[in-house]
Amino acid sequence: MKHTRLFVAAVLFTIAFCSLTSAAKTVVEMKDAQGKSVGTIILSESGTKGVVLDIKLHDLPPGKHGIHFHQNAKCDGPDFKSAGPHFNPDGKKHGLENPEGHHAGDMMNLSVSGDGKATMKLTDNDVNLGDGSDSHSLFSNGGTALIVHAKEDDMKTDPSGNSGDRIACGVVTK
Ligand code: ZN
Repeated sequence: MKHTRLFVAAVLFTIAFCSLTSAAKTVVEMKDAQGKSVGTIILSESGTKGVVLDIKLHDLPPGKHGIHFHQNAKCDGPDFKSAGPHFNPDGKKHGLENPEGHHAGDMMNLSVSGDGKATMKLTDNDVNLGDGSDSHSLFSNGGTALIVHAKEDDMKTDPSGNSGDRIACGVVTK
């Protein structure tokens, strides 16, 4: 009897723990212009403010690339224009170094190594994974998109830091 109760308690605890864990994380599948997967980015909330991106990508051109959250949860290839402009609930200009900036969706550059892989973490302090009624939630207005650009973001040129074409895209939804 005692063992059965313990077992039930353990099962309930496991279920509760798993549902908590899955609620706090969002997996974004990133695809290139041909629709081929280039890996995943796992989003989780960082303390009380901001979102951490746990990035594990492959088959990308080596070097630095702009990476941003865009306004629409749409990744229609090959140009990914359907994702719209950078996520910008505060009506600011582009760039972490722009005096009139920055978009909530702006972040530091992604670094891809010589073998085409990127394994790193980035943080965006201006967004959250809260319910869609919060204007800074990545789930507001039906979601957003994560986009990797062809070139490095110069962190100051409006509207996208001269980061060029959109080469990979992933939909951010619950
Ligand atoms: Zn921007």
